[in-house]
Amino acid sequence: MIKCEKCGKEIECVKVDYFLYGGSDGFESVPFEEHKNGIYIDLSLNWCGYEFDEDSEEILDCIRCPHCGKYPFIDTEIQKYEFERVVMFKQNCRDDIRGESNESKKM
Ligand SMILES: [Zn+2]
Repeated sequence: MIKCEKCGKEIECVKVDYFLYGGSDGFESVPFEEHKNGIYIDLSLNWCGYEFDEDSEEILDCIRCPHCGKYPFIDTEIQKYEFERVVMFKQNCRDDIRGESNESKKM
């Protein structure tokens, strides 16, 4: 169970600021995963903190407790990671490709 360290209430998500139409922005609820001594969230690149450094004041203002509206942790360390998607293939994938091309020839 994770509690906001500012207001003490239990949280199951955080509010994350996203860019919206026409340069506006708005907060959306994002569920988090617990990770060792903290939490993590996976975000698309249109969140407002994307261009801020990990140690900037601005990035802390883009993530808020849904109850009190403050950054939910006393510690202000944030670590951002990019990750790569790795795709693996089943044994019959080549047969599937041939099957599709055969069908398109018939048409
Ligand atoms: Zn709070």
